[in-house]
Amino acid sequence: MTAAEPTTESEIEEEESAVETARRQLERAAAHLDVDEGIVERLRHPTSVYRVTIPLERDDGTREMFTGYRAHHDSVRGPYKGGLRYHPAVNEEECVGLSMWMTWKCAVMDLPFGGAKGGVVVDPKELSSDEKERLTRRFAEELRPVIGPKTDIPAPDMGTDPKTMAWFMDAYSMQEGETEPGVVTGKPPVIGGSYGREKAPGRSVGIITEQAIDYYDWDVTDTTVAVQGFGSVGANAARYLDDLGASIVAVSDIDGAIYDPDGFDTNDVEDHDETPGMVSGYADAQSLSNEELLELDVDVLIPAAIGNVLTGENARRVQADMIVEGANGPTTSTAGQIFEERDIPVIPDILANAGGVTVSYFEWLQDINRRSWRLERVHEELQTEMLRAWGCVRDEYDARDITWRDAAYIVALERIAEAHDARGLWP
Ligand code: NAD
Repeated sequence: MTAAEPTTESEIEEEESAVETARRQLERAAAHLDVDEGIVERLRHPTSVYRVTIPLERDDGTREMFTGYRAHHDSVRGPYKGGLRYHPAVNEEECVGLSMWMTWKCAVMDLPFGGAKGGVVVDPKELSSDEKERLTRRFAEELRPVIGPKTDIPAPDMGTDPKTMAWFMDAYSMQEGETEPGVVTGKPPVIGGSYGREKAPGRSVGIITEQAIDYYDWDVTDTTVAVQGFGSVGANAARYLDDLGASIVAVSDIDGAIYDPDGFDTNDVEDHDETPGMVSGYADAQSLSNEELLELDVDVLIPAAIGNVLTGENARRVQADMIVEGANGPTTSTAGQIFEERDIPVIPDILANAGGVTVSYFEWLQDINRRSWRLERVHEELQTEMLRAWGCVRDEYDARDITWRDAAYIVALERIAEAHDARGLWP
C-alpha cells in the first residue's frame, strides 16, 4: 500500500444531510439510465410527512409534549417500510432522507415495499420504562391513520427495540379490535417476530463480504478484517466471517479499539450489549483508537458503528483494500470520491446491511400467514435473497464503468422507475 498522501483543504467537507445524500445518489443513478425526468423529480420528494405531538404523563405526574414524525417516500412497489427512532436529533429532514434510503434498499433487495422513516425527538435514556411505554402507545395512536399492515409497517431503529415494537403492536391492535402482528416488524418471536431478525443485518454484511472476497479472487482464509463497532451488526458480521476462516484482526466499541495481527476468536470477545466496555477493555490485545482502526492495513474494513466516519479528512490514509459498509452512511460523498480515485471498492450499505429489512419482510409474511418459520429456513431464504441481490448489482458493476454504490442504486432505480412507468400517474 502507498503511504498516506496529504489531505487538501477542499477535502475537508461539511457533513451532508441524509436528504442531500439521498438526492445526490438518485441523480447519479439517473444519469446512467433512460428514466423519465418526471419520475426522477417525483423521487426527489417524499409523498408525505406526518408531524404529530405526543403528550406524555411523566412518572411524577407532570405532562410533557414530544414531537414525532413519519415520512413516506414512495410506495409504488408496495407498503411503506422503515424504522422508528427515539433520539434527540430526530427531525423532519432526516426522516425524509432516511425514508428515501429505505426506498432504494427495499428496491435493491426486490422486496415489495417502499421507503419510510420516523421517530420521536426524545432521549430515550431519560425515560423510565413506563414512560417509554406510554410514549410509544400514544405515538402508535397518533400514527394510526397512516400506518397498517397493508400501508406502512414500522420497525425498530436507534433507541427502539423489540419491546418497543411489542407495545406499538399492542396499542394498534387494541384500537383495531383484532391482533395485527403485521403492523410492525422486529417484534419478539412470541408475538409474531421472526427468528433470526436481530442477527440478520450483520449476517448479510458477512454474506456480501464473502461474495466480494470471492469476486476479487481472494482466499477468505488469507483475508484480514477490521470491524469498527462490535455491536449487533459488527459482531454478527465478524463472527460470520470468522466462521469462514477470515482473520478478524481489529474490533472496536465506542470507547476504543483492540488489535491482534494474529486475529481474535470473535466468540471470546463479547459485544457492547453483552458486556459494555468488554471490547476496549479486552486484555490480550494492543489498544488502538477508533480512528487508528479505520486506517489499519487490512484487506477488508467494515465500518459498522455510526455514519460519516470515513470522510475527506481520513480517506487518503485508509489502507484497506476493500470497504464493506455495515453501518448506514459511514462514507461521506467526498470520501467516496477519494476511494473511487484510489480504486478501493466500497460495497454500499443499501446492499450489505439489507438483511435486516429482508428478514423484516419474512416476518411480515409469517404474520400475514400466521405461521412462523424455523431459524434454518430464515437463514436459507436470507442467503438466497442476498445472493440474488448481489448477482444483480455485480452484473451492473461488470457492465458499466461505475462504483459498487452506483451499481446498487442503478438496480434500485431501474425497478422503481419501471414500476412507476407500468402503473402510470393517477389521475
Ligand atoms: P449497536 O448499538 O448494537 O452497536 C453499535 C456499536 O458501535 C457498539 O459497539 C458501540 O459501542 C459502537 N459505537 C457507537 N458509537 C460509536 C462511535 N462514535 N465510534 C465508534 N464506535 C461507536 O448498533 P447496531 O444495531 O449494530 O447498528 C450499527 C449501525 O448499523 C448503525 O449505523 C445502524 O443504523 C446500522 N444498521 C443497523 C441495523 C439493525 O437492524 N441493527 C440494520 C441496518 C443498519
